Amino acid sequence: MHVDTVEYVRRAIRSVPDWPKPGIIFRDITPLLQDPRTFRVLIDMFVYRYMRQRLDLVAGIDARGFILGSVLAYELNLGFVPVRKKGKLPFRTLAEQYTLEYGNATVEMHTDAVKPGQRVLLIDDLIATGGTMVAAAKLLQRLGANVVEAAAIIELSELGGLKVVKDTGLPVFTVCSFTESET
Ligand code: AMP
Repeated sequence: MHVDTVEYVRRAIRSVPDWPKPGIIFRDITPLLQDPRTFRVLIDMFVYRYMRQRLDLVAGIDARGFILGSVLAYELNLGFVPVRKKGKLPFRTLAEQYTLEYGNATVEMHTDAVKPGQRVLLIDDLIATGGTMVAAAKLLQRLGANVVEAAAIIELSELGGLKVVKDTGLPVFTVCSFTESET
């Protein structure tokens, strides 16, 4: 049986219209994680891509990036560091603020999370406008990290987030994409 792995993963993502607010289609990865087969295929796609990249760390973005990032780090025999929302980390932190559609958001990391020159993979579940990914990458770079790539499962193609991230000079990898209106 021939199985297109990208389509296999993509089909396990649930689209929930009007959540968390009217007009937004939420791309829910919980079914993808719940099925042990799709979960393994997904993680293996990332392992295959990064196993020879001589990485030092995986940085996962709060909160779904933690699930993917920690499993991937473990599989690649690397450490994991969290990029958290404001006010969650107990030790000394560095912060990066970015703009959302309405208002601002802030991501934080511990100042000792990365050593200068370490090769870091940055991962989240989804790239929409790209704002979160760019802020997290900036934070890592301010700590001296060499951010090797930004990775996500999903790209929302019409929002242009991939280009926003690429325009900062950072390579990007996504497994699959959805158009904004696709249900
Ligand atoms: P952005 O900064 O606009 O690229 O937004 C990316 C972040 O918001 C990621 O952490 C996603 O988990 C979350 N996000 C944004 N839009 C959606 C969506 N339609 N479905 C699921 N998560 C989303």
